[in-house]
Amino acid sequence: MAASRIVFLMYHELELAGRKLCQSEPGYVRYILPLETFRRQMAWMKQSGWRGLSVGEALRYPAAPSVCITFDDGCETDLIAAAPVLREVGFNATFYLTAGFLGTAGYLNASQVRDLDAQGFQIGCHSMTHPYLSDLPTPELKREIVDAKFRIEEIVGHPIEHFSCPGGRYDQRTLQVARHAGFTTVANSQFHANSAATSPYELGRVAMLRNLTLEQFSATCHGRGLWKKRLQYQARRGLQRALGNDAYDYLRATLLGEPRQ
Ligand SMILES: [Zn+2]
Repeated sequence: MAASRIVFLMYHELELAGRKLCQSEPGYVRYILPLETFRRQMAWMKQSGWRGLSVGEALRYPAAPSVCITFDDGCETDLIAAAPVLREVGFNATFYLTAGFLGTAGYLNASQVRDLDAQGFQIGCHSMTHPYLSDLPTPELKREIVDAKFRIEEIVGHPIEHFSCPGGRYDQRTLQVARHAGFTTVANSQFHANSAATSPYELGRVAMLRNLTLEQFSATCHGRGLWKKRLQYQARRGLQRALGNDAYDYLRATLLGEPRQ
């Protein structure tokens, strides 16, 4: 892989001993890494000479071996678990917050968001209430994208430029609304590395799964094997489009034993 291609990693809540997760269904927990697993991944990156970047930094596509680190949803563990580990190894990251979840049980509150921001991490937006954006009529889409942006900007006191799509679902309207709102990038969950040739409104990201081995993590940082995941993802998206999101989730939950992600 050429050095100017950068893999964007997508993390969620982290699991701490004795702390209840924000949600408990298997489709959610699948994306939750124990803190120790995350710590080992960051330590491996540091020892192997990789740098961890925020979305803003990654968009410059530096030549040095780098990975972009992102977190979705705005769980409290962004501040109390991920941030200390990242600071220890000197990495940056982007935390995409679900504006309407802030201040509710298990999620960051306003002063914790300001703390994360003041520590130098980048704050992004992950909608107002975490719906599948491609399912929404345009007025609701605006609330999810534009109002959410304003709400987070009110908290941190400066512009928020980066957006990530809940469940990776988006359509052209989503991108238009985000662009008009002043977002300069939109990230999804498609399995591809990004480069200067990638549209900043269609940044791919690789979901970090709970059961990922360190060997698989290393392969992911190098961008190896993403094509296989991409094929699987495209097959899933084809089914989702054919059935609609609700019917697809139902089918997945009942037949495949895999609830919605
Ligand atoms: Zn999410």
